[in-house]
Amino acid sequence: MRRSQCAKIAGLSLEQIRLLLDGDVEQRRSLALAHAAHLDRRAAEITAARQMIGHVIDCRRDDCIDCATPHDTFGFPRA
Ligand SMILES: [Zn+2]
Repeated sequence: MRRSQCAKIAGLSLEQIRLLLDGDVEQRRSLALAHAAHLDRRAAEITAARQMIGHVIDCRRDDCIDCATPHDTFGFPRA
């Protein structure tokens, strides 16, 4: 697999890929730290979304989406 393909799979933008390939060690490390934090936030959002959908599968109420606020019930990150 080419290096640029790996970077795309990691969810980097074209500008980030350019910096990853052409930047010095500190630039790459800074980019990686920022992107790791971004991926952690996305992972938390996906986990919360999965929990909410799991609730919808199991809930028998007519208005189950209103059972509670998404942050409190499903752990959605607060903005
Ligand atoms: Zn419900």
